Amino acid sequence: MDLQLSGKTALVTGSTAGIGFAIAKTLAAEGAAVVVNGRKDDRVGEAVAEIRRAYPNAPVTGIAADLSSAEGVETLTNSHPDVDILINNVGFFEMHPFTEIPDEEWHKVFDLNVMSGVRLSRAYLPKMKERNWGRIIFISSESALNIPEEMVHYGVTKVAQLGLSRGVAEYTKGTGVTVNSVLPGPTKSEAVGGWLEDMVKQGKAKDVEEAGRKFVQENRPASLIQRAADVAEVADVVVFVASPRASVINGTSIRADGGVVKHIL
Ligand code: NAD
Repeated sequence: MDLQLSGKTALVTGSTAGIGFAIAKTLAAEGAAVVVNGRKDDRVGEAVAEIRRAYPNAPVTGIAADLSSAEGVETLTNSHPDVDILINNVGFFEMHPFTEIPDEEWHKVFDLNVMSGVRLSRAYLPKMKERNWGRIIFISSESALNIPEEMVHYGVTKVAQLGLSRGVAEYTKGTGVTVNSVLPGPTKSEAVGGWLEDMVKQGKAKDVEEAGRKFVQENRPASLIQRAADVAEVADVVVFVASPRASVINGTSIRADGGVVKHIL
């Protein structure tokens, strides 16, 4: 299937590593002009170079901007005032018992996981509507549906993204713009990879693959795939939803979680 992404410009937030990097790389493979984002120039440069090595003709650029503040988002929108596809991927998660999470940490996780998406969607939606084509995708999580007791603050931000996504979609009625959320399950990204490598170091698994299976079987036993996903598997779903081929998918949430949420719909 030709995803018809050639000629489209796509910004993927938090894309120097993990799921975001995989999304950026897959978009580049499909011919989109990709903008990579992270906090630091060197990591942005490395990610851009890695995509160029894989796809030498891909028009990939990068911008360092810390999206946890309004100023950081403004740096990004000033340098890239218009995009066809916005993937609100950036997100932070960390295990912390609810009774020990101070206000500052709630604000920090909310600013990055939710407000970056609010600010960027507000900036890019009007031009998408003018052009009568655009895609906004929020990378939420199965944690929006299965609130993790070890990171309630994170789960709350992932629920908020679902409300935000559907709310923004209301502004696309009758246009070629769509706004959706994709909900991954446990995925071997840079952040989760760190947890899995710790399991290997502690002798709980022989390698990251086995650690991923154990992590899922012990912590997300309802998973139908019984393993952690590869970032590329999640990216494939996101890139389809970002493509012109997904024109009838709007205002909804797509689970790419290996069946970890036991809902039919
Ligand atoms: P990751 O930590 O592996 O990668 C995060 C990326 O964001 C990195 O490129 C990092 O440099 C960048 N980043 C972090 N803070 C930033 C900031 N302030 N400004 C700009 N860039 C910043 O994360 P991941 O696991 O790939 O997660 C990506 C998204 O997927 C998140 O929204 C997360 O909630 C969601 N998700 C992840 C999983 C999983 O199991 N990995 C499951 C469900 C949902």
